[in-house]
Amino acid sequence: MAERANGARFAWADEIVDSAGMSWQVSAAVLLGLACEPVECGADSTVLTSRWHLPARTDRAPPAEPSGVDLRLAQESPAVDPVGGPVVPEPEEGDDDIDNDTSDDTKATWIVHEVVPQETLAQLALRYRVDPGKIRGWNGLGSGARARPGQRLRLRAGRTPPPRERVRHTVREGDTWTSVARDHGADPSDVRAYNIKRTGRRLYPGLELDVWRDPLLANAVVADTPPSGPAAGVRPGGFSVGRPSDGRLVNGVQIPASADYDLRYPGSAWGTSFAVRHLVDTLHRWREHSGYEGLLRLGAMSRQRGRRIGGHRSHQSGRDLDIRLPLREGLADTITPTPRRVDWVAVYALVRAFEGSGAVTQIFLDYRLQKRIYKVAREAGADRQTLRRLIQFPRGSRATRGLLRHSPGHDIHIHVRFACADHESECAGR
Ligand SMILES: [Zn+2]
Repeated sequence: MAERANGARFAWADEIVDSAGMSWQVSAAVLLGLACEPVECGADSTVLTSRWHLPARTDRAPPAEPSGVDLRLAQESPAVDPVGGPVVPEPEEGDDDIDNDTSDDTKATWIVHEVVPQETLAQLALRYRVDPGKIRGWNGLGSGARARPGQRLRLRAGRTPPPRERVRHTVREGDTWTSVARDHGADPSDVRAYNIKRTGRRLYPGLELDVWRDPLLANAVVADTPPSGPAAGVRPGGFSVGRPSDGRLVNGVQIPASADYDLRYPGSAWGTSFAVRHLVDTLHRWREHSGYEGLLRLGAMSRQRGRRIGGHRSHQSGRDLDIRLPLREGLADTITPTPRRVDWVAVYALVRAFEGSGAVTQIFLDYRLQKRIYKVAREAGADRQTLRRLIQFPRGSRATRGLLRHSPGHDIHIHVRFACADHESECAGR
């Protein structure tokens, strides 16, 4: 059982004084919080829309900004292949979702965020789509400074998802740190960290815990409609934080075993609820529509908590999955899928199925092999528009259009990248 302990911690000042002593008039904003028990929230939780539009002042220059800091960390070379072949480099990510701040005054909004326990500057940067270096600059913080709970930070947000809010959770029989956090769409290690000093490690019925939860993530769990069909057993609440090449997975879900595919690495078959549900659903539809009866081997997705995984620089946030190119029927499952051995009709059907899911942002495949899919697509009667939308070929390996994109070394497998779900406030990277 849980009750709302206080309002959302999004501080709205009528007047903000910046580090130079200049004052910034901003309008008060109203945030509607959850005023119900989580188990009852359901559709009511959708009232959590933001009402906090703070128009940026145009008659005064904003305070000086520090030079930009790239959100991505330097990447190391991979060492092991995801599907058992030679080492392959991993695809780059688009960085067009990092707001460059000064370029678009119509979208960016000055807000004041009150830091909640365990929240970091890096998370706030992801959440509000700003550069962490700029948050430091706007608030006079040194490079080593950390966000402190209760601290009010002024920042120019590229987007404004609702802030975390505190709810009180009364422990019931059978609750664990993980189950409590999961029920609220929160991170178990965070929930543990800010309660443990007061409560100790052991949970017992009646104990009251604080949970700082993200209203969008909480709602995605509470108001979840369990899927039917092959994804029926895949629970909600698994979400991505950060980028595929610099991120993690929270409350990850494992790809379930299925007759539709073979899991090469069950220990690295974890993803977000959004990605895994769409994946099993898509592969089931692909089986039915393509008529392909050979083995479909899934390589690595992510580890249970994401982060770095051997042989990959992406695959960190539960959104990336390698799939070995399906072999022509009649060939032994163990042989390497060289181009002549691959069933390109089945691959094309797979690309169409992922496109149809609406949940995939990119599929990476070596440019030299894309021609084969292009040929199959033309033979299947795909029109020009479809070809352009689906396949980068023949526009060159650097062209930035087409679901199918070049990434060197992806010649025995495709690498599928799932989107961030709308409720994943701190998920980033295309
Ligand atoms: Zn990969």
